[in-house]
Amino acid sequence: GNQLADKQVHSVCPYCGVGCQLTYHVKDNSILFVEGRNGPANHNRLCVKGRYGFDYVTHRQRLTKPLIRRSDAPKHIEMDMDYNNPLRDFREASWEEALEFATKGLKKIHKKQGPNGLAGFGSAKGSNEEAYLFQKLIRTAFNTNNVDHCTRLCHASSVAALLQMIGSGAVSNPVADVADAEVIVLIGSNPTSNHPVAATFFKNAARDGKTLIVMDPRKTDIARYADHVLQFNPDTDVAMLNAIMHAIIQLDLVDHNFIEQRTEGYTTLKKHLQDYTPERMAPICGIPAETLYEVARIYASAKGSMIFWGMGVSQHIHGTDNARCLINLALITGQIGRPGCGLHPLRGQNNVQGASDVGLIPMVYPDYQRVDNAEIRKKFEALWQTTLDPNPGLTVVEIMHAIHDGNIQGMYIMGENPAMSDPNLNHARTALASLKHLVVQDIFMTETAHYADVILPASAFPEKTGTFTNTDRRVQMGRQAIDSPGEARQDLDILLAMAKGLGLQWNYTGPRDVFNEMRQVMPSIAGITWERLEAESAVTYPCSHEGDSGESVIFQEQFPRAGGKAALIPAAFSHADELPDDDYPYILITGRQLEHWHTGAMTRRASVLNSLEPEAVAMVHPDLLEQIGLHAGESIRIRSRRGEVVTGTRSDRGLNPGQIFLPFCYYEAAANMLTNDALDPDGKIPEFKFCAIKIEQA
Ligand code: SF4
Repeated sequence: GNQLADKQVHSVCPYCGVGCQLTYHVKDNSILFVEGRNGPANHNRLCVKGRYGFDYVTHRQRLTKPLIRRSDAPKHIEMDMDYNNPLRDFREASWEEALEFATKGLKKIHKKQGPNGLAGFGSAKGSNEEAYLFQKLIRTAFNTNNVDHCTRLCHASSVAALLQMIGSGAVSNPVADVADAEVIVLIGSNPTSNHPVAATFFKNAARDGKTLIVMDPRKTDIARYADHVLQFNPDTDVAMLNAIMHAIIQLDLVDHNFIEQRTEGYTTLKKHLQDYTPERMAPICGIPAETLYEVARIYASAKGSMIFWGMGVSQHIHGTDNARCLINLALITGQIGRPGCGLHPLRGQNNVQGASDVGLIPMVYPDYQRVDNAEIRKKFEALWQTTLDPNPGLTVVEIMHAIHDGNIQGMYIMGENPAMSDPNLNHARTALASLKHLVVQDIFMTETAHYADVILPASAFPEKTGTFTNTDRRVQMGRQAIDSPGEARQDLDILLAMAKGLGLQWNYTGPRDVFNEMRQVMPSIAGITWERLEAESAVTYPCSHEGDSGESVIFQEQFPRAGGKAALIPAAFSHADELPDDDYPYILITGRQLEHWHTGAMTRRASVLNSLEPEAVAMVHPDLLEQIGLHAGESIRIRSRRGEVVTGTRSDRGLNPGQIFLPFCYYEAAANMLTNDALDPDGKIPEFKFCAIKIEQA
């Protein structure tokens, strides 16, 4: 209980984008337990990850000393069970030696290959200040824009569509606005597992009589609370959503005033939608025409309808088109620009919104200011006192290709785990292994660190202070509760030491200095002071001046595009890159599960979470299990054209018999061995949610 702890530290949860506030109860530099705090996103609630997933910080595999690869240790592509023992391939080194080794190797490649021989991945697990400094380091010390992070694998397509059509990539309304909505549409999202506390808001809203419409190829727990469940065929979002818009136009339920005053491109969109009749689209998407008409009527005629979406929408080669349809839908019905309506792409990682906002993206500086705009570039050159590369850099998967092509030979990876999170892992891992110089900064011997030349032991979430921006655009303060083990150092300190070794003259004394610089270059947070965050713990942006309360609902007057109007952009139905055929007859859908987080680096080392879900398991429809002569629990081998895994099974009637769902957190059955690295042309996001597979008894 409380009386045992000698201090309480208020912070935020390190896992998902909901951004629950919590309190660490600490005694003698160790966390005794975690409690929910009354933050605006969680109202004291926490899910199992936030409440019990904290003891990874003291796991025996924490890296506590810098490591340098032994000269006699080759980089094995194959991952073996011994990879958690770093001393097999690495030797311990002093910080001085490791930093010198790390920066020397990068400088050598810079000299030989030029700036574009290098690249960096930052992380959405880190703070805004860490992400800001990381992108600044890559752009000013490497002189390249080859800097990206897991937003590329998450909502890059949603953001591409939002920026293009309404001029801003963030959500229009916060989750808690469901209290003011009449209708809530959830599409391609499994919030009970992936945004569990946000799911409680949806469930409560449904209980209070709001209409909940769930659209997803996989029927998950949230469907039990829904008034309408549209279990559409995977990959047919555009067909279904265009049909719903066709019905809205046919029933004359569009908002003519809103279209007239606040949008452009309606005539073209209307013409485009003529062919997408519900009757014609019904057999494609698998939803009866009358259901499409009914959902159209409910969504369009409600006083306020909100749309929430997840990776089911974004992780396709037509993810940007999927998102365009959702945006069109909200715009033609005027369901945006007031409380209780709007568009909300549910952000995955706890700081994926913030890391993107501060410029951890190859084509934009902080606040989405384009690197290829000369005026903007000049502004950053003056501020950072350097010359900057005018060309947008490469994205995550493009960087892997560039390594294979021999163009990129050195990388600095901070907190990211592409050897698990990238699609087509054989390809990604061969790339990582073939780098001439790889610097990895992390808290564990991750699958990616396995390919490093030097590993810098970093700090876990509760070991440092910084700001984090949740899915609602709320900047929140994460506070240090405990010290790091051994010689592990705070990430910001490591970044400063790396910058020094690479010849940069930086003199930040801590996260507060970095935050103050961010405020200068980011109009969206100009009004947020460090002191205010310390006092209030959370402030929503846009916040233009001190004293501004922050806008939780945006686009009330106009859209941040030239002319102030939103653009309606038609999207045509197209198929996935790799459709099932006789050789690979089933569809693989990848994703997450409640107890584990992304690549599992933290949650699989959190004792409670790992005891709840200790083993890789694929979800399979019982009919399909029977067809291949298996009982649930027995093992299957899943093969795609790119790789294979062996995993346990669990029966899941929420899937159609032709589909299998596999979480991507298990290194021993890494789902991304199977996935397809084909990219969406606009968002450059890979098609994690659809590839062709075959299965057999293992
Ligand atoms: Fe953490 Fe998300 Fe769970 Fe909240 S809902 S406790 S932020 S994982």
